[in-house]
Amino acid sequence: MSKSKMLFTVASVVALTSACSDVSEKTEPDQNVNYSQDRGMCFSGGPIYTAVDTVPKVEAVAVRNGSIVYSGDNAGEWCNNNAGPNPIRTDLAGKAMFPGFSDAHGHFVGIGLREMTLNLEGTLSVSELKSKVALALKDLNGGETLYGRGWIETHWPEKRFPNRGDLDGIAPNNPVILERADGHAVVVNTAALTASNITADTKSPFGGDILKDNNGQPTGMLIDKAGALVNDLMPKNTEKRTRLAMKKASDLYASRGWTNIHSMSFDPAGVAMIRDEASKGNVNIRVYASTDIGGGFETKDFAANPFAADLITRRSIKLYSDGALGSRGAALLAPYDDDPDNIGLMLTTYETIMPVLKTALKDGVQVNTHAIGDRANNLVLNWYEEAMMAVPENERAIADPRWRIEHSQILNIDDIPRFAKLGVIPSMQPSHAIGDLHFAVDRIGPERLAGGYAWRSLIDSGSIIAGGTDAPVEVGDPRIEFYAAVHRKDLKGYSNEAWYDDQKVTRQEALKMFTAWPAYAAFEEDRLGTIEVGKAADFTIFDRDIMTIAEPDILKAKTVMTVVNGKVVFKAK
Ligand SMILES: [Zn+2]
Repeated sequence: MSKSKMLFTVASVVALTSACSDVSEKTEPDQNVNYSQDRGMCFSGGPIYTAVDTVPKVEAVAVRNGSIVYSGDNAGEWCNNNAGPNPIRTDLAGKAMFPGFSDAHGHFVGIGLREMTLNLEGTLSVSELKSKVALALKDLNGGETLYGRGWIETHWPEKRFPNRGDLDGIAPNNPVILERADGHAVVVNTAALTASNITADTKSPFGGDILKDNNGQPTGMLIDKAGALVNDLMPKNTEKRTRLAMKKASDLYASRGWTNIHSMSFDPAGVAMIRDEASKGNVNIRVYASTDIGGGFETKDFAANPFAADLITRRSIKLYSDGALGSRGAALLAPYDDDPDNIGLMLTTYETIMPVLKTALKDGVQVNTHAIGDRANNLVLNWYEEAMMAVPENERAIADPRWRIEHSQILNIDDIPRFAKLGVIPSMQPSHAIGDLHFAVDRIGPERLAGGYAWRSLIDSGSIIAGGTDAPVEVGDPRIEFYAAVHRKDLKGYSNEAWYDDQKVTRQEALKMFTAWPAYAAFEEDRLGTIEVGKAADFTIFDRDIMTIAEPDILKAKTVMTVVNGKVVFKAK
């Protein structure tokens, strides 16, 4: 007796046409072929990893109409005969091909917005600052604020702070706000001062300083709390800006080899926008949107749409249970080692979450709940279990709901096997582990770390792990995540004694964390995640074989090509 309203799911955008024409080709265009038809694609000449344990590696792959039609030994003739008229042949020339990499936890719009903030790190002089600002202004309309950050003047030849005079000539109309690397000062132009009513008469606020010249006029430098005087000018997330961020995130992610992102805490109002941007060709990678539920929980928004060759999918919600470890907001079963009166903070309650969980089960909506501390993870597992007991399989829209715990960072050892037992998927970000290793021991001590970032224990207990990045909190780079998962050391090769080296994973497991397992964690394993006949042609090609090279070299790999649904969405120059 499954619920009649099939509310689970998904929705649509655009079926991409396959076989872009700009792949390196061995064959000349045949004048007799109608190229409006699908030409098919063939890949061979390098290691091709499938993420399938029984056939981990093949020699050739052929694609037709966006789907894999052949995966096996090198067979040029087979390709000629079956991959379409005059297929586009890609000689990997020793480069390594993988199923499309998938980031199971990122924040898509945030990734794009980060790209829209002018990065001033490494600026060597006032004149370089000016030219960077001038370039960035070209993307803006009149009146829009340019925000940048990261400059530091200590080694500049000019040996002084920048000032509004430096900026006014190139930015007479747009307010410009440029934050110093330490975040304790900004330089702004006259347009920003005027719009914020900062004049010679304005008094410095408590805890801040409006720097003034010999004539008593503001120089444009605002120190500490004076920086807040221009807060109202900071760019707002308008629809136009959000849409541009989506395009930037897609372009960046494709260039890094990602074919898919599970976008957490996605604004429900952005779902229609991203579908529209995908239909216009501005979003070219897959986005699995896990939306905030805001004030109410409305499953009617999850309009039923069939799976197809669609890029944008919505069938899950994102909930929060606690804070983060660095700021001691993660909810722990026992106090922090470095803050004995503090056990962290739960951000939700049983009374709030239980009705949501039961509705989600009945309506087939996947629930992805943020949990960092061992108490938060314990409670979320308890709540999931209770909801599943209360709503038996015959009352659910989907028998196996594949609920996830985002981060699953610090686990009570006894809770580790409960993931597999309940079918709850730990969604984890290896880069967090190699970043946190510098302070996590101080926070919770070595004993509790036995259940920290416990990839090996989770896999050995029968779990899969959906691997992600948490970008823009982290970089959002598949090389860093893969490296962190197999090496469990920071980017300089550092680890420490309390760091449970044996929790690292094999390369095959790391590959699955970023291909096959995210596909399963999004109900997409029938069409995504491995290189097998019948699956969508989503591929990531790196210039070196990250399955065999020394760990530090993984970080040097370059993306050669990214293919989504048989369309080349990135190709290195
Ligand atoms: Zn996140």
